[in-house]
Amino acid sequence: MKIQIAESQTLSVETISEDQGRQSQRRLYLLYHELRPGGSRYSYVIGNNEFEKHLDLLVRLRERKHGLYPEVTFDDGHLSDYECALPMLQARNLTARFFITAGWTGRKPGYMGWSELRALHEAGQSIGAHGWSHTLLTHCSEEDLKTELGVARKTLEDKLGAAITTMSLPGGRYNRRVLAACEAAGYTQVYTSIPRSEPATPGRMIGRLNILGSMTTEWIADVLQPESRTLADLGRQYKVKATVKTLMGDRLYEKAWSVLNRREPDAVDEEATSDEDSAHHQ
Ligand SMILES: [Zn+2]
Repeated sequence: MKIQIAESQTLSVETISEDQGRQSQRRLYLLYHELRPGGSRYSYVIGNNEFEKHLDLLVRLRERKHGLYPEVTFDDGHLSDYECALPMLQARNLTARFFITAGWTGRKPGYMGWSELRALHEAGQSIGAHGWSHTLLTHCSEEDLKTELGVARKTLEDKLGAAITTMSLPGGRYNRRVLAACEAAGYTQVYTSIPRSEPATPGRMIGRLNILGSMTTEWIADVLQPESRTLADLGRQYKVKATVKTLMGDRLYEKAWSVLNRREPDAVDEEATSDEDSAHHQ
């Protein structure tokens, strides 16, 4: 009896210290967009099989007490969030945060309707906003910002019957005016595309690592290692790109991006090019 008591006491002490370790572990928020069964040449699409490998890796890494603790987010509100990602997350007891372009819901082919979005929410997944029309917020007038932020939030709240307090920036673009408008519209946290880790209790702006189809499971495992320098390198690259964008302006940057990434005619993936959305390129 005494031994049992001693064991249970030891166990509870270990559980507390494990929890404390987890609470101080820094987070890395991963940003996904669309899943497709066979993958795609479009860089923002991840193959279903590859995504399952990512999730298995994340489950394993979440059991460690060191290194970065991975979190999963999705942008845009693709139909594959519901059809593909949800069952894969449920099979592993995982939850993710889904940022929805409110004005596309139930209107744009390939994106969720309100019934799918409600089902995703009722399954315990978190929902945030991703604007009304995916317009880069830095291009919006004050009036446009009210629609992109305020109307998007109210519509999601009315349709889901839940508070929406998180916002992910379309194309990751922001400035001081945009951040002030997010706060005025009632968002308490803004998710960016700045590749950096975050404390266990993050602040108002949360960085994320954009996951592309070209990134292997092994590469993602490396980024999440405690000694990895990859994230710091990506952070430096992001700053250079952000400076170029500021100097060139968004529209010229997007034009340069599409010229630099133009494919040979015989290599064109029609499905992919029709979906190319330059607003995503970071
Ligand atoms: Zn987006």
